Amino acid sequence: MIPYGRHSIDQQDIDSVVTILKSDWLTTGPVVEKFEETLARKVCAKHAIACSNGTTALHLAILAVGIKAGDVVLVPSITFLASANAARYVGADVVFVDVDAETGLMTAETLEEAISNNKQKNLKAIVNVHLAGQCEDLEAIHKIAKKHNLFIIEDAAHAIGTCYLKDGKYYPIGSNAFSDITTFSFHPVKTIAMGEGGAVTTNDPEVAKKLKSLRSHGMIRDSNDWQTHPSDVGPWYYELQELGYNYRTSDVNCALGLSQLEKLDAFKMERAKIVEFYDEQFSDHPFIKPMKKLTHSDTAWHLYIVHINFKNLKSRAETMTVLRERGIGTQVHYIPVHMQPYYKNLYGDQMLAGAEGYYSTCLSLPLYVGLSREDQQRVVNELIKNAQ
Ligand SMILES: *Cc1c(COP(=O)(O)O)cnc(C)c1O
Repeated sequence: MIPYGRHSIDQQDIDSVVTILKSDWLTTGPVVEKFEETLARKVCAKHAIACSNGTTALHLAILAVGIKAGDVVLVPSITFLASANAARYVGADVVFVDVDAETGLMTAETLEEAISNNKQKNLKAIVNVHLAGQCEDLEAIHKIAKKHNLFIIEDAAHAIGTCYLKDGKYYPIGSNAFSDITTFSFHPVKTIAMGEGGAVTTNDPEVAKKLKSLRSHGMIRDSNDWQTHPSDVGPWYYELQELGYNYRTSDVNCALGLSQLEKLDAFKMERAKIVEFYDEQFSDHPFIKPMKKLTHSDTAWHLYIVHINFKNLKSRAETMTVLRERGIGTQVHYIPVHMQPYYKNLYGDQMLAGAEGYYSTCLSLPLYVGLSREDQQRVVNELIKNAQ
């Protein structure tokens, strides 16, 4: 079976984890810190805070920028559920933003439109999702956010290793050059695997401090930050000022993450070669269209998505079933979140033409480190043969 995605674990990864299993720490110890420092350096952020997964990273980010009940967060409709759900965890509401039907990304235009249609609402933040690893024009989105006084949270679950290109300069996703805070996921299906894992990056020391405390129940151990100073205090003492969670990760997970991070550049290159080969194979194809590539995104590809107008052909479900029978896994990223019953019940029926157009034609093909050229050729041949 050729899956649509999978992790790539080598002996170095295994050795790193085994070393930790033999050490004094299994949970939050020195390797978590080392992972955080390495990740921060890699994406050019001042602070990185590791946590239990990409969803808790989003929840922490929402809390850390101060989103609360009654606030409204703008989220593109083509994304994983978690990008929107994180706002709901704090009782905030979601306005779904339409996307470009070719890239699946929220654009400056679709964002402006969503803002002007919802002016009377208490808009507070934008969650910008870098679908498949590709990023939109971040400076344009940043300008709109500043004009309307909105925070930008980048959901970079797909985009570790991607750089935004502007005026000849490379800005790594996670550096927050055009945003306030960025979240990552290190679920095995993503580009870097930690088992379960996530992280948040920021350049604001106060936000970093808040993230660290919220990740661990809201406990504050630094006496400089206490609100009260009882006489009977000692090394055991801590304060709770704001409700937090246990969203910690462990040295075991971070040992794997650290070892994987060392290979990020190589992973990015290998994925780019696979993408390039697919693009060549489909370049003149009458009905299989590779996803549009944006020149300002130096992309670390997480997904390889093609667009097929299934209306005049075999249905997508049928195509996927036939491919599965032929040993090829494919996937759909994603069902527009505004169409989910949970959100329909909250906000009623909505029509987002870009998102719905995108959804009706998208199909993710196998893309992972270790996918051989032979297997890739088989995917191409079987898709061409069976999708009609
Ligand atoms: C995977 C994913 C998440 C959630 O990450 P987990 O680690 O699975 O919790 C959030 N947003 C997007 C866009 C994702 O793809």
